[in-house]
Amino acid sequence: MADPRLPLIANRQSPIANQIQNRTLLAIETSCDETSAAVIRNGRVLSNVVASQTRLHAEYGGVVPELAAREHLRLCQPVIRSALQEAKTSPDELDALAATRGPGLPNALMIGCRAAQAMAFALRRPFFGIHHHEAHLYSPWVTRAIDPGGAAGSGALQADFEHFQPNVSLIVSGGHTLLVHVRAELEHQALGSTLDDAAGECFDKVAKLIGLPYPGGPEMDRLAGDGNSRAYEFPRPLLRDPGDDFSFAGLKTSVRYFLQRHPGLADDPQKRCDLCASVQAAIVETLVGKTLRAAQRLKVPCVTASGGVTCNRALRRQLTDACAQCGITLRLAEPSLCTDNAAMIGLLAERKLLHASPPSSLDAEIDPGWSLATASP
Ligand code: ADP
Ligand code: MG
Repeated sequence: MADPRLPLIANRQSPIANQIQNRTLLAIETSCDETSAAVIRNGRVLSNVVASQTRLHAEYGGVVPELAAREHLRLCQPVIRSALQEAKTSPDELDALAATRGPGLPNALMIGCRAAQAMAFALRRPFFGIHHHEAHLYSPWVTRAIDPGGAAGSGALQADFEHFQPNVSLIVSGGHTLLVHVRAELEHQALGSTLDDAAGECFDKVAKLIGLPYPGGPEMDRLAGDGNSRAYEFPRPLLRDPGDDFSFAGLKTSVRYFLQRHPGLADDPQKRCDLCASVQAAIVETLVGKTLRAAQRLKVPCVTASGGVTCNRALRRQLTDACAQCGITLRLAEPSLCTDNAAMIGLLAERKLLHASPPSSLDAEIDPGWSLATASP
């Protein structure tokens, strides 16, 4: 329902895309457990400030929605201020505002979305309510410029849409596992998703069974580096199924039964590493196998991957090898853009601005269960 306190005067639908040479956008992301704000100008990430709440939620072993919302409320303004400062940009230089409108935790989404809408209202600028996963689809098209004088990985992040190719995109995070066919910019079709647990959730839950701290994914990755991935055999769920859906709950359960049959095994440092490597191999092999099969079926020239689990070294390595073998170009999101971040939200909003997509209403409600199928035409 429209909020009568927010008249729609600020949502001017001017042909802004044609008028603005130096497009500058501020984007906000608060869909889960990262408070983030970014400033984007002409495809360049001028700042991308991310305040992670991982430590706050660690003692509960997972994200507590009420705590997440309170923390977003506390951090939203300072994070926006520091993103503007770092980008040496004042609010009146902004041409548009953007925020994640869904999917995500309702109270968390509301904070970033309302903040961006309020700024858009005050500054009389358009506002773009962005689908979190649609933004993930384009984050692999951002590359880090080589900075000759700086430390490794210190160059600016710049979008590279001139080289855009139709692709199959794998989005793997703590809450989602999705395969998407991206036919053209702003044109996609969801192919499959997880029927139960997401890949990141499987990493985190298995890590908890082994007694590793939350979030377990990075820790499993680290220990797996010293382990033998063939030490123990675990199922590759739905790998042989012709569809594009995933299912990871059964794999987690099989690890639980395995540990019941082998009490104390996870206390042995080497066996613990072997176990991490074996479970990681089952997850990664499933993700890589299904992604490549979809890419070959759809005859796309490119595969992309993003989301927190894309930080996983084995997944990066095996996607690289599999794509090279099939002659498919691979684009992996930069590690800093794999987990939740506002830069990808701003970059997609900028593409929408350029393609003259209509902005969202200033009183558009958040959409916690927003389906990717309805995110763009
Ligand atoms: P969400 O939006 O669901 O919070 P993120 O995109 O922020 O997801 O990613 C967090 C997830 O990524 C967690 O499940 C975490 O365990 C997983 N993750 C992060 N790094 C790694 C890694 N190196 N290996 C495996 N999983 C990882
Ligand atoms: Mg997160």
